[in-house]
Amino acid sequence: MKKYNFNAGPSILPVEAVQNTIEAIKDFEGSGIGLLEISHRTKGYEKVVADAVALFKELLHIPEGYSVIFLGGGASLQFCMVPFNLLEKKAAYLNTGTWANKAQKEAKLFGEVVEVASSKEANYTFIPKGYDIPKDADYFHITTNNTIFGTEIHEDYDSPVTLVADMSSDIFSRPIDVKKYGLIYGGAQKNLAPAGVTFIIVKDELLGKVTRPIPTMLDYRTHIKEGSMFNTPPVLPIYTALQTLKWLKSIGGVDEMYRRNKEKAGLLYAEIDRNKLFKGTTAVEDRSLMNICFVMNDEYQHLNDEFYAFATEKGMVGIKGHRSVGGFRASTYNALPKEAVEALIAAMQAFEKLH
Ligand SMILES: *Cc1c(COP(=O)(O)O)cnc(C)c1O
Repeated sequence: MKKYNFNAGPSILPVEAVQNTIEAIKDFEGSGIGLLEISHRTKGYEKVVADAVALFKELLHIPEGYSVIFLGGGASLQFCMVPFNLLEKKAAYLNTGTWANKAQKEAKLFGEVVEVASSKEANYTFIPKGYDIPKDADYFHITTNNTIFGTEIHEDYDSPVTLVADMSSDIFSRPIDVKKYGLIYGGAQKNLAPAGVTFIIVKDELLGKVTRPIPTMLDYRTHIKEGSMFNTPPVLPIYTALQTLKWLKSIGGVDEMYRRNKEKAGLLYAEIDRNKLFKGTTAVEDRSLMNICFVMNDEYQHLNDEFYAFATEKGMVGIKGHRSVGGFRASTYNALPKEAVEALIAAMQAFEKLH
């Protein structure tokens, strides 16, 4: 039976990206040696990294003065690398979910952290608005998409201080104005590549300002200088990332991606709002285009497990909600075809007819 992959991460990738990676594993660019067994210093591979950087810059319209690097360690390593490199005295954090909270916790090891606002008391069902950002903070950190709770910041904030964003789960899902950010990072395993690579977009002039010594591996400048080749980079995930970026360019880039994402999410939210069995879990204006959370309506709570089994039977994979929200979460990342959303909607409608 056809499976529809709604996994939250690692998650669905474009068919072409996976197919090209399989071919490269067998034979990397006609070299007679597979991608898993080449040196990262192989000429053809250096071009893979360079091309991935170039496509990052092209697709996101990254201005001059910014670098793009690929590292290991996941977004979680960035929770400490960001303050290591940027926090001299004080940093501001917006607490919008589990990941935002974890990022903030790490920063406290390096200096004063001001939590400008938090939606924790409301189980992170909305994005706080109307708070003050201290003008003397070294940076302001946000998590643009809250993967677990299904909320998303839909605009590029105007921040009085350097804006730093964890975009792990919504990078390339909508156009962004990179010049409003000082640093953007994310694990690639949601919208870009298999697990193992982290991307960082950083404004060069922000680096080298803190007075603390930074271990070589944790200093962004090391990796910028060496073009992500200071040590062995995640060879395979970067290759797949390049294939995903080529696919993205081929379909019309980030503008077209945004149009498709709005369409997919719009269809599913409309069904959640229409269907008598279900309801959404977040403030409507903050609804994520990438992770769509919903639960059974109060009077139908007892049908939770039955719907999960029913949807699974119809080919839905990965729709169980995170334990901190319950119910269901359909991750509708870039590579998820509209057909998958339509299949989920059909399952929701068929289940409604049974009850
Ligand atoms: C998945 C996720 C993370 C954690 O990423 P790792 O690469 O596993 O460290 C951090 N932030 C957000 C927003 C995420 O979705």
